[in-house]
Amino acid sequence: NNKLSIEDVYKSYGNKLVLDNIDLKVAAGELCTLVGPSGCGKSTLLRLLLGQEFADAGSIIIDGAPARHPDPHRGIVYQKYSLFPHMTVFDNVMAGSRLSKQAWYLPWKRDKDDEAFAISMLERLRLVDAMRKFPHELSGGMQQRVAIAQALMSKPPLLLMDEPFGALDPDTREQMQIYLMELHEEHKLTIFFVTHDLDEACYIGTRLLVLSQYYTDDRGEEPTVARGA
Ligand code: ADP
Ligand code: ADP
Repeated sequence: NNKLSIEDVYKSYGNKLVLDNIDLKVAAGELCTLVGPSGCGKSTLLRLLLGQEFADAGSIIIDGAPARHPDPHRGIVYQKYSLFPHMTVFDNVMAGSRLSKQAWYLPWKRDKDDEAFAISMLERLRLVDAMRKFPHELSGGMQQRVAIAQALMSKPPLLLMDEPFGALDPDTREQMQIYLMELHEEHKLTIFFVTHDLDEACYIGTRLLVLSQYYTDDRGEEPTVARGA
C-alpha cells in the first residue's frame, strides 16, 4: 500500500547530475523524513513530486498515478510565504480546496462541505480565534499551522513538507514538531518531510532517509554522508 513510489529516477541540470538513480517507497501512514546537506537535491526531488519539473528518467507514482502533471495544490507546506498576505486565515485555508479543485480562472462557488471541513481543521489547529486575522498579525508558528491546514484541505494522499519549521525559533519549532507528530497519529497522514536538520529528522520521523551530495563540493571534498536513500 504505497502512497509514493519512486523508481530509478535521474535528474540533471545541464551536465550536472543532481539525482542519481533514486529509489524510494513511502507506505501509507509513514512520516518519512528526508535529510541531506544543502544542494544535494531535496528541493529538486520535491519539484518532481509536485509535477513542476520532470525527471530525465525513471518513474514517480503518487497514489497510483504518475506525478506527471503540475498540480497547483498537491498539499505542500514550505518554510515561508505559503500564505496569501491579503487574505484572512479562513480564506487562506479555504484557498487550499479551491486551488485543488478548480482552475483559478473559474468563478468561485461556495461549498458548504468545504467550509465545514475548514472550520473543523481550524478548531483542531487551535486557530478559530484567529480566523478573521491576516497572516502578518500572526506568530510564525501560527502561520505555519495555517499553512498546514491549507495544505490538508485538498486531502492530499501525501503531505509534502519542505523545511516547514526552519524559520521558527527553537521553542516554537519543538511545539510544532510535537504538533505534527500528533496530527500524523490522529489522522493517519502520510507525510514526506524534507529538512537539513538531522536532529529534527530523527526526532519526528517514523523513517529516516538520507540523500547525499552526488558531486564533490566546492572544496573538492568527498561526500561524507552515505549515498542513496
Ligand atoms: P534550499 O536549499 O533552501 O532548497 P534552493 O533550492 O533555493 O535552496 O537553492 C539551492 C541551490 O540551488 C542554491 O545553490 C541555488 O543557487 C541553486 N539553484 C536554485 N535554483 C536554481 C536555478 N534556477 N538555477 C541555478 N541554480 C539554482
Ligand atoms: P537542496 O534543496 O537539497 O538544497 P536543490 O535541489 O535546490 O538542493 O539543488 C540541487 C542542485 O541542483 C544544486 O547544486 C543546485 O545548484 C542545482 N539546481 C537546482 N535547481 C537548478 C536549476 N533550475 N538549474 C540548474 N541547477 C539547479
